[in-house]
Amino acid sequence: MVRQCVHCTSQRAVLRRPKTAEPLCRECFYAALEQEVHETISAARLFKPGERVAVAASGGKDSTVLAHMLTTLNARHGCVARQGQGSVVDGGCAHACGCGGAAVPHF
Ligand SMILES: [Zn+2]
Repeated sequence: MVRQCVHCTSQRAVLRRPKTAEPLCRECFYAALEQEVHETISAARLFKPGERVAVAASGGKDSTVLAHMLTTLNARHGCVARQGQGSVVDGGCAHACGCGGAAVPHF
């Protein structure tokens, strides 16, 4: 039996959200997660508008999702923070920036 998404009721559910046990389609899951992160950031006043935020990304799923989520929320709401691009490479810099592999942040 194919379950329908309980939010939009027009798409097939692709997962049951662990937090709420709701069957959701992909789009509704992303929307619910983004809304929850936005509400958490706003309620806790984690960032001030225009503030620069460094995201330390290991390349794993958690930090990759976080970086994507902050970019998405910033574009959508314009109230998260301005993000700079940076890189810190453990064991040496892999960029042609002239830092000599000093593993320093580049913002
Ligand atoms: Zn849906």
